[in-house]
Amino acid sequence: MSVEAHKCNVIDCKGFIVFENADFDYKNPPTVNGMYEFDDPKCTECGKEYKVVPHHAVIALDEHEDIELVESACITQFEKREQVRSFENEIMPYEKVKKFIQLRRYTYSPEEVIARYTNYKNGEYVSHTMKDCIKNLTPELERLAPF
Ligand SMILES: [Zn+2]
Repeated sequence: MSVEAHKCNVIDCKGFIVFENADFDYKNPPTVNGMYEFDDPKCTECGKEYKVVPHHAVIALDEHEDIELVESACITQFEKREQVRSFENEIMPYEKVKKFIQLRRYTYSPEEVIARYTNYKNGEYVSHTMKDCIKNLTPELERLAPF
């Protein structure tokens, strides 16, 4: 038993429902408002609340109080998504370049990308992966590159 992740069932939400299941007491499940309930985690992105119940299903309640099962996910999917969010929410240009490189698992240093961006603007050839960095980081590189 460990950390468990499920995908949020809200359309267009890429968030996850994440919770620790190690302490669940199946022989004596806790109750909330007369219903067995181990936990009430929220989506990491849209905040929708879910309930973890003793038969170990993750359910969503819609406005009609209908129960819907949600898709389970592995924790590495969640971690990958958190990396993407961390990149998307980064406001410091240098950190953003660094996070993009990590996300793509490239071996460049941020300095290398900044330097190659200047070369690229001067019409020099850059590799496919470097072009990928430049394409996704143009506003940041514009701020970081020396004139
Ligand atoms: Zn969500």
